[in-house]
Amino acid sequence: MLAVTVWLRGDHLVRHRGPLARRPDEPLLLIEAESFARKLPYHPHKLTLIFAAMRQFRDTVADAGRTVHYRQVESFGEGLSAHFADHPEDRLVTTAPQTDGARERIEALVTEAGGSVEFVSDERFLCEPAQFDEWASDGRYRHEDFYRFMRRETGYLMADSDPIGGEWNYDDQNRETPPEDWTPAEPLSFDHDEVVHATAEWVTETFTGGYDEPPYGGEWAEPEPFRWPVTRRQAVRALDHFVTHRLADFGPYQDAMRGDEWAMSHSLLSTSLNLGLLLPDEVIERAIEAYEDGVAPLNSVEGFVRQVLGWREFLRHVYRREMPTLSTANQLAAEEKLPEFYWTGDTDMACLSDVIDGVRQRGYSHHIERLMILANFGLIYGVEPAQLNRWFHAGYVDAFHWVTTPNVVEMGLYGAGVFATKPYAASANYVDKMSDYCSDCPYYKTKTTGESACPFNALYWDFLDRNESSLRSNHRMGLMYSHVDNKGDEEWAEIRERAEEIRTMAREGEL
Ligand SMILES: Cc1cc2nc3c(=O)[nH]c(=O)nc-3n(C[C@H](O)[C@H](O)[C@H](O)COP(=O)(O)OP(=O)(O)OC[C@H]3O[C@@H](n4cnc5c(N)ncnc54)[C@H](O)[C@@H]3O)c2cc1C
Ligand code: SF4
Repeated sequence: MLAVTVWLRGDHLVRHRGPLARRPDEPLLLIEAESFARKLPYHPHKLTLIFAAMRQFRDTVADAGRTVHYRQVESFGEGLSAHFADHPEDRLVTTAPQTDGARERIEALVTEAGGSVEFVSDERFLCEPAQFDEWASDGRYRHEDFYRFMRRETGYLMADSDPIGGEWNYDDQNRETPPEDWTPAEPLSFDHDEVVHATAEWVTETFTGGYDEPPYGGEWAEPEPFRWPVTRRQAVRALDHFVTHRLADFGPYQDAMRGDEWAMSHSLLSTSLNLGLLLPDEVIERAIEAYEDGVAPLNSVEGFVRQVLGWREFLRHVYRREMPTLSTANQLAAEEKLPEFYWTGDTDMACLSDVIDGVRQRGYSHHIERLMILANFGLIYGVEPAQLNRWFHAGYVDAFHWVTTPNVVEMGLYGAGVFATKPYAASANYVDKMSDYCSDCPYYKTKTTGESACPFNALYWDFLDRNESSLRSNHRMGLMYSHVDNKGDEEWAEIRERAEEIRTMAREGEL
């Protein structure tokens, strides 16, 4: 007779819902595959996060009385072969993976190992594929429409068919600069146990070197102590702490950047959501409860719900529908190599240096730093999208293909034009308005050409000039091109010369 084992992968650590909850008496299989972790020069905190969370999950489930088969092997194929050799009558039940082509690869590996596998839906998301496909049946993706659709479908922040407060968004209240004396509440930190320390040590010993790029965590880049939640209990505490102490300020300052505040009032919940330690509905409902209890204002709560109910769900489906072409999309034909300073942090540009240092320290930077510093520079410099995507995948603790690729290739670098209506290109003007970086920078934010002129400025104009044939007809770019038209030939010659000089400096490690 066929027996069933629930197989959960490292980014599906869900116990109280999904296949594990539905099959309380069946064993659990977890496979730690080292070769998977060698695919890229991953940040050590990302590997520690996944492996430590798996090991903690193993212990929690076993302590609750369930049989757990835990395989530490070189590859998934090896783990599956070992499993089916020991349990030839077994059928695996697992959640459908998000990564493009992963389902087919898993099926092939299981078949090769002599077993069978059944896929069930992924409870880490609220919008089912069929529901999204029906919504997107005209082939147009507009995030705002999708978000309103999801608000109506779920009833979150709705009073009958109207949005609570009368507006669908409160963006006009959410672009504030914090006053100088503002300090955000400290994010929660954890006293990690021996399992986490041992995993961190093993990661450092096992996964260093052998890559083309300088590895994170080498002698020149000692990361901070590992800080991310690895158990459901810790994740729930992190959610509770965010909602109670930080959510109120999340909205107004969500687009602001400050050099001395790496987390601002962001939730730092993406790792827990992406691993399944928290589920989106509980996160959203907890935030709404804070609004109802008067703990956080509507503009902050709506802004947060929009990220989780809107963007996170939306991008997951865009990825599902637009792969495999999305990962190599490059509609602007950008071909520059990713400058080495993205790996080393070795640049005089204060904004990039600080944000990259943060990624090297903790595998994280908040949304606006990802979009308007790291991706914006890549966009106007002309980095090939796949190269920046690879860098994000390697460096971020919360990076998984389904979420990194649409964010980097499409939102950040305007690679495909499937949902982005224009590129997020900006000069030092924007960086200066939203951050305090420029005052401490050896480059001059107001200069476009000449010695020490801010690289963002010449690259920004050069970007508009180089891509004029693709972008001028976009009505959302009209204002930008009216400024392009105001520049004379001499000015353009200087801009092009400065842009070329900046590329040379970047290639030679002197920017
Ligand atoms: C270039 C670029 C790369 C990114 N790469 C990733 C990535 O690899 N993994 C990842 O989870 N997110 C990614 N994002 C989205 C977003 O920046 C992060 O989810 C967020 O910064 C995580 O920090 P937080 O938990 O403090 O988020 P908060 O700012 O507190 O937002 C709350 C939650 O909303 C969700 N969310 C917000 N924006 C997005 C978005 N654009 N896409 C998907 N979910 C969103 C996340 O689950 C996040 O935890 C990327 C964005 C950009 C522009
Ligand atoms: S002057 Fe330019 S390089 Fe320096 S911090 Fe400002 S935007 Fe960044």
